[in-house]
Amino acid sequence: MANINDNYLKLAGSYLFRETARRRAAFIEAHPEADVISLGIGDVTLPLPQACIQAMHKAVDEMASADTFRGYGPEQGYSFLVDKIIENNYKGLGIESDEVFVSDGAKSDCGNIQEIFSTDNTIAITDPVYPVYLDTNVMAGRTGTLQPDGRYQGVTYLACNAENNFCPELPEKPVDLIYLCCPNNPTGTTLTREQLKKWVDYALEHDSIILFDAAYNAYITEEDVPRTIFEIPEAKNCAIEFRSFSKTAGFTGTRCGYIVLPKTVTGKAADGSRQALNPLWNRRHTTKFNGTAYIIQRGAEAIFTPEGKTQVKEMIGYYMENARIIREGLTAAGVTAFGGINAPYIWLKTPDSMPSWDFFDKLLNDVHIVGTPGAGFGPCGEGYFRLTSFGNREKTIEAVDRIKNSLKF
Ligand code: PLP
Repeated sequence: MANINDNYLKLAGSYLFRETARRRAAFIEAHPEADVISLGIGDVTLPLPQACIQAMHKAVDEMASADTFRGYGPEQGYSFLVDKIIENNYKGLGIESDEVFVSDGAKSDCGNIQEIFSTDNTIAITDPVYPVYLDTNVMAGRTGTLQPDGRYQGVTYLACNAENNFCPELPEKPVDLIYLCCPNNPTGTTLTREQLKKWVDYALEHDSIILFDAAYNAYITEEDVPRTIFEIPEAKNCAIEFRSFSKTAGFTGTRCGYIVLPKTVTGKAADGSRQALNPLWNRRHTTKFNGTAYIIQRGAEAIFTPEGKTQVKEMIGYYMENARIIREGLTAAGVTAFGGINAPYIWLKTPDSMPSWDFFDKLLNDVHIVGTPGAGFGPCGEGYFRLTSFGNREKTIEAVDRIKNSLKF
């Protein structure tokens, strides 16, 4: 009989969204008349920008004719897209075309990247955070078992909460791989250029690699928040950046993202030599991935046209106006809220430090609103709650009014 990868047995069940859906369904069954509004959704709801739709239609037509048909493309992405990415998102930062790898999204990239690192590397993750970083390292065997306190043995958890102003402390003991998510999901908070520079300096000093997830970078509004880690020049020696078109331009169902891995980022081989990571990732990517669909890459390219830029700006503006409404409404209701300025997520402190699952029930029962309990994103998420701004405007206003007027603490 084949032996399984036992590390999978260490994984905590994917409990969070299943459980929120279960509680929501049970509530609706018991109260069929209730108008339940979801501010828990982590997915976009607006349609794709017209510029992308038109470009994709055109690409579909190209596929219909032998002269313009495309089969396999370059695994790393078509140069028409890679060049636009560099020109628009990394201008003047010295990123070269063979340092960009187009993919089917940041989830796959964040999960797959750890394959090029030894399983005995130590990892650090911010807490709370997007669960993919941790779970993929559990699968790879880079952690011990899950402890009763909700933490895996052998992982460095970097608390990210109101006490440290959502800027985690540098690890006490050196770690090899550091996951940073900025803007952060779920807290919606960011690191300033100066704060991020400390992480880059730390990584260089300890020969660590920063895995920088910038999936929400398009939502940044404040000047002192870097749009890319490569705004800090030294990061080209220690960082890998993940980007996604999902939240940037509504590509969650269309699938497109990319990694930027400068050739100057290195790791140590077993023989002690220093090796560039870029060729390793290139090898991994070309061996296991056959490229993002041509039609989708044409759609992604259209984001960088003048019309595409305007439409994307409008789309993000819509979500960020929702974020403002939620954040200001909560504050007016006396709730302490974070995020929502550089991200589509609002992270609130539950009143009287109520456990986040209890607050979920209270919000659902009292005002018929669904959100996401903070504890589902890591132990330090306990006592917090995530609301998102991806919903429809009227429903968002209605939800905030209910919280302001009807929620009794
Ligand atoms: N990174 C973060 C922080 C996310 O929150 C998400 C999706 O919610 C992703 C990556 C996944 O992005 P993609 O749709 O490109 O796979």
